[in-house]
Amino acid sequence: MEKMKEKKKVNEKLLEIKPSGIRRFFDLIIGREDVISLGVGEPDFPTPWRIREEMIYSLEKGITSYTSNYGLEELRVEIAKYYRKFGLDANPDNIVVTSGVSEGFDLSLRATVNPGDFVLIPEPSYVSYQPLAILCGGNVVTISIPPPSRLTYEEITTASRMIDPKILILNYPSNPTGVSYSKKELEEIADAVVEMDMIVISDEIYSELTYKFPHTSIAGLNGMEDRVVVLNGFSKSFAMTGLRIGYVIAPDEILDAVLKIHQYSMLCAPITSQIGAIEALRNGESELDEMRAEYMRRRNFFVRKLNEVLETHMPEGAFYAFPSIKDTGLSSEEFAERLLLEKNVAVVPGNAFGESGEGYIRCAYAVSMDKLREAADRISEFVNSLR
Ligand code: PLP
Repeated sequence: MEKMKEKKKVNEKLLEIKPSGIRRFFDLIIGREDVISLGVGEPDFPTPWRIREEMIYSLEKGITSYTSNYGLEELRVEIAKYYRKFGLDANPDNIVVTSGVSEGFDLSLRATVNPGDFVLIPEPSYVSYQPLAILCGGNVVTISIPPPSRLTYEEITTASRMIDPKILILNYPSNPTGVSYSKKELEEIADAVVEMDMIVISDEIYSELTYKFPHTSIAGLNGMEDRVVVLNGFSKSFAMTGLRIGYVIAPDEILDAVLKIHQYSMLCAPITSQIGAIEALRNGESELDEMRAEYMRRRNFFVRKLNEVLETHMPEGAFYAFPSIKDTGLSSEEFAERLLLEKNVAVVPGNAFGESGEGYIRCAYAVSMDKLREAADRISEFVNSLR
């Protein structure tokens, strides 16, 4: 019998996707002692006790079942109320609770992107966006806005003119740059979105960690009623990363599509985490205020110190500094690798966030003041040794 052509064992779309640049740096840290890691974007606070306590009670009562695919109604009601502070009056029926923003992002793309659709991604961008958009068959087009550049009406309309994109991915405050947008800037972005007839997927996971102006959701602005999918969650604001809990707020048609996928893939988010999330929204404000104040104190100290040796714009939100290393003559990977090997400080090379991140490094300031002080000294010594 004629030998059959060998079948490819994995999805060929994966060949287009590079391994995460962050992972490689985690691997380099393993086995090294005295490393100060500014690499991971994870709160260094424990989940507030009141949230853990509610989850423990629920487990003691044996509450471990599936929930509705939408998520617990009580939680969706709390989310709808909570989002009013960001200027969006959402209906609880337009919310699906997910296993983190990560699941919400994947669902939103799969719910909206047809193979070949253009997906606009401002860059430097969070590491998951481009790979997941490619996996859904999207054609990714990036808008290069390394700091101090910002996303504007012109940037969007110029990038859109030749390609007629369907989706714009927004993330503000941004990982990795810390840039956020005022209501006025968002209104301009919204004008471009309407003009280009696009859908926005707005990842607002750092909405609570703002230091300059309060967060506004683009979904609440005029003309945005049927165009915005909001993603948010509890990982960063309430230090609940491993509990995998987030949500999607979307207009009817997109929400139905999101739910269609979620009901067959994840079924529902973990019930224990949903119960913790209800407590977070009902009573977690004071712990949140304390964590925000501490991040701000660290930001003010660390960015000032970095600016003595590397040009660093002041982040308006999240917990990342994104200094330029262009003056050192090193690539971002060389810089990060040598800083780790010579000074035991781990940072992420900017090119892990796309080509526009080249010439920068990302330093998470979600570590104690003592560690930040030591890390800032070591970074200064390293940069001075290059001169
Ligand atoms: N979106 C952004 C911009 C992030 O920085 C992260 C985590 O670092 C996520 C989403 C993932 O969030 P979650 O833990 O809710 O899946």
